[in-house]
Amino acid sequence: MTDSESASRVDLVPLEPLGRGGFTDHKAQVLSFQDGEQRFVWGLHKDTDQLWYLEEDTAREWRAHVKQFVICPVPGCEAQLTTAHRTTKRDGLVHLNKDGGHTGESIFHSQGCAVIENWLSTNYPNSKVKREEYTNAEGERRADVLITSPAGDRVAFEVQYSPLTSDAWRTRHESYRRQRIADVWLFGHTSKQLRFDRGGFLSLNPTHRAVIAAGSPVMFINPEQRAIGIATSNEWIDDGSATLRSSATIEVWDQFLRASLSIAPLEDFRPSRRGIASDWLSQLYGQTKDLRDRNEASRRHTVETQQREVAAAQAELKAWIFKRRPQQEQIRHQFATVQRWNRSDALASINAYFGGNLRDRIDSNGDAGPGTNALVRWQSVVYFDLVAGRSREFGVREAFAAIKARGVNMGQPDAFKLIAIHLHGLVDLGFLDRTDGYGQYPRFVSTEEGAWR
Ligand SMILES: [Zn+2]
Repeated sequence: MTDSESASRVDLVPLEPLGRGGFTDHKAQVLSFQDGEQRFVWGLHKDTDQLWYLEEDTAREWRAHVKQFVICPVPGCEAQLTTAHRTTKRDGLVHLNKDGGHTGESIFHSQGCAVIENWLSTNYPNSKVKREEYTNAEGERRADVLITSPAGDRVAFEVQYSPLTSDAWRTRHESYRRQRIADVWLFGHTSKQLRFDRGGFLSLNPTHRAVIAAGSPVMFINPEQRAIGIATSNEWIDDGSATLRSSATIEVWDQFLRASLSIAPLEDFRPSRRGIASDWLSQLYGQTKDLRDRNEASRRHTVETQQREVAAAQAELKAWIFKRRPQQEQIRHQFATVQRWNRSDALASINAYFGGNLRDRIDSNGDAGPGTNALVRWQSVVYFDLVAGRSREFGVREAFAAIKARGVNMGQPDAFKLIAIHLHGLVDLGFLDRTDGYGQYPRFVSTEEGAWR
């Protein structure tokens, strides 16, 4: 290794950290993160296969060296490079012959991988850091950058600038899981991955949502700024009150309807068994877990409450049926022996049946002696022969036949019309349902209320 090469790596200084203090305005910080200016500053040394970094304002100084030793890091390109000095923009690397032929995204991708590799190898000299390494003997999946700790824990970093379907993402994520490798997905900061809606909130695509569903926050990388953006929200869903709540202090990476971008310097983070960690992330993970747990508990509570209510209603209905069935049998039996209706056992039993619970379902002709309501006889017959304890559908004709069968003469020429009006009244009161789709000849069936209460 020559002096110049070692100098170029040892002197490598991380870009100015982007901490919140750097920007007074979050919007300006996000705009800067999205800045698509393509800076090509990381190449590969062709003899050592090591990363090579071009410092700002050193294009002239390093040009000859670059031409001789530094090649394009985009896989499959390996083109010779040179340097470009710029007065308004930063100095950068360029292909010596304009035959790169690859997209802007592939430069961003290679620069992102270089930043991650440099970040890991600088901070974790005792770990093994490899770019595009096959993760198992079968070459099942190669990581953009794989770090293996001295204890053998592995974290794969994927820098994803190009579109990726959620199914393809799941397949790769599952493959890592099977190999016991924590995978960290850093989506690109350009518009193929990072988009905002008109309201300034993140437009998360199905792949981003799959990442969240699998238990990780959605993260973006800006290699230029050595910054990580994380989809977070301080507006979250609170199932307990079934509303959207917000808090200035609680930020979460899940359980939100819309998210913003929280940005922190890459140097704030460290690889971890979970993939990636930082003090800020620990807080975010904790807050999100609390909210998830709380929402889960409240969902469970809602389900349990509903189940209890259903069980209570079923038990109550069972008690009504137990009480009503013999009363109904008795009234129907007593219908057979009526002499004078207002003095009959049937009317007394019906008065006892309803007690204070008549709720207008049978009309009254006044009092029939102390404590006896002179309920209309034909309506009483209809109720106890066709509604109470019954579940069979019937129409006006069947009701008229039932009245006749009990020997009741309605004594009116428009009996069918009166019966129809009465049955519709029972529908309005909730004791009958219409079953005929409101056609010309109405059909009725008892409601639970009509049958048993
Ligand atoms: Zn190239």
